[in-house]
Amino acid sequence: MEHAKNPHNHGKLEGDVRSISLLNPLCGDEINLCVDVQGGTVRDIKFEGQGCFISQASASLLTESVKGKPLGEVRQMLELFRALMHGTEVVEAQEKLGELLALEGVKKFPMRIKCALLAFEALEKATREQPPAGAKPAAEV
Ligand code: ZN
Repeated sequence: MEHAKNPHNHGKLEGDVRSISLLNPLCGDEINLCVDVQGGTVRDIKFEGQGCFISQASASLLTESVKGKPLGEVRQMLELFRALMHGTEVVEAQEKLGELLALEGVKKFPMRIKCALLAFEALEKATREQPPAGAKPAAEV
């Protein structure tokens, strides 16, 4: 896989970005994802990590696939991909997931599904709704 040997979007983002680190203890994969969300759209995304080729290839493909997309569409892709990995027939997969379908074969190897999903879980956590900076804590409202 070209994406494992030569990962796209490798590195870190500076400034006001959301970042998250996740570990897959089953395999020893690590990922650190930085997402720059502006106006509800993924403006830029980069990752650093180490681990098996599936985890790194999936992070590379995922970052490439979601860059420039609105969060709503990104969440839909995450859900579809998760369903696909769990063996669900996804009618709109071809249209919505594009290049990510290169990872579809992983679902035949249950031990590796976590490897493929690691970057997706990191992105899911990083893009979860967060209170805007400076918002008052709920207790004070
Ligand atoms: Zn792995």
